[in-house]
Amino acid sequence: MENRTLRVFKTTTYREKPNSDELAFGRTFTDHMFVMDYSESEGWHDAKIVPYEPLKVDPAAMVFHYGQSVFEGLKAYLSPKGEPLLFRPRKNIARLNQSNERLCIPPIDEGFLLHALKQLIHIEKDWIPSSEGTSLYVRPVIISTEPFLGVAPSKQYKLVVILSPVGAYYKEGINPIKIAVENEYVRAVRGGTGEAKTGGNYAASLKAQEIAAKDGYSQVLWLDGIEKKYIEEVGSMNVFFKIGDEVVTPQLNGSILNGVTRSSVIEMLEHWGVMVNERKLTIEELYYEYQNGNVQEAFGSGTAAVISPIGQLDWNEHQMVFNGGKTGTLAKKLYDTLTGIQYGQIDDPFNWVEKVLPEEKIDKVG
Ligand SMILES: *Cc1c(COP(=O)(O)O)cnc(C)c1O
Repeated sequence: MENRTLRVFKTTTYREKPNSDELAFGRTFTDHMFVMDYSESEGWHDAKIVPYEPLKVDPAAMVFHYGQSVFEGLKAYLSPKGEPLLFRPRKNIARLNQSNERLCIPPIDEGFLLHALKQLIHIEKDWIPSSEGTSLYVRPVIISTEPFLGVAPSKQYKLVVILSPVGAYYKEGINPIKIAVENEYVRAVRGGTGEAKTGGNYAASLKAQEIAAKDGYSQVLWLDGIEKKYIEEVGSMNVFFKIGDEVVTPQLNGSILNGVTRSSVIEMLEHWGVMVNERKLTIEELYYEYQNGNVQEAFGSGTAAVISPIGQLDWNEHQMVFNGGKTGTLAKKLYDTLTGIQYGQIDDPFNWVEKVLPEEKIDKVG
């Protein structure tokens, strides 16, 4: 039923590439994109790389009305030899299918999508910026396209992969951010869609983010949606605390996103012999440990920033300042090691990095 050929249609009008030092996040896109459609009769079919262009989608398409969509986010990095590298792309593609499962979207062939991603990145390799800390952000998204206003899983979908050259997340090394604990709004609840990467979770998070930004905070710390006492995530990152001689991160519970960076941090810490405890952690316990001088570091983890140290955490009238508001040694070491691996600059003991070439045969471009 599924057709696995990938056709390539090259553009004739190439876009101007932005200056490597002036890259904002997610505003510039490359010359080509990957698209693939789903219908009940044909399954996922008509996979092609085409010139980047607006989609033609029916205004009745279900995605506009009921938000049935999922996405992913990963990056391609340029190695010192000039080869494009991907960091654990199979994990992102597997998670895309986990999100699909939750949103009633038919699964995609993971091997085929990886092949298509590599083909697309190979064609666009000149778009991967080379200045320090820059990369090519890879954004797959699936939308429901059936023109129908009934509430049911769509019978038609479109998968699109676009690429965007992105700048260094931190211009002068990693800088700690100021966070507010969110007591009113919640991001996700047990039984909801928090574990899926779906647009609705982001829509639900905007209000709290907007208020926090007005009050001078970079992000909010999300508590669980039911009792509002267990720590879940920070902004759209997973969160870690160094408490005493162990590192604590909230255990996956169905409402926390299972980050690829989170897994990599846990595996790296264990590799270094640092004790990691995935468990429930309340904001009260964190504050108690803080008052006793036991919380040495706090940081978020995610593809965009990799590691984002938390300098200050405000919880109602209580203020917590970690490591004097400066980047901690563990956060710095994790950042340097993970980015070193991602850019192919240091040894990769876990084989996390995948080349776009050469083992993957590149399709003939017509
Ligand atoms: C994507 C995302 C993360 C981070 O996941 P990574 O795979 O590490 O990039 C964390 N939390 C939320 C809510 C996310 O959407």
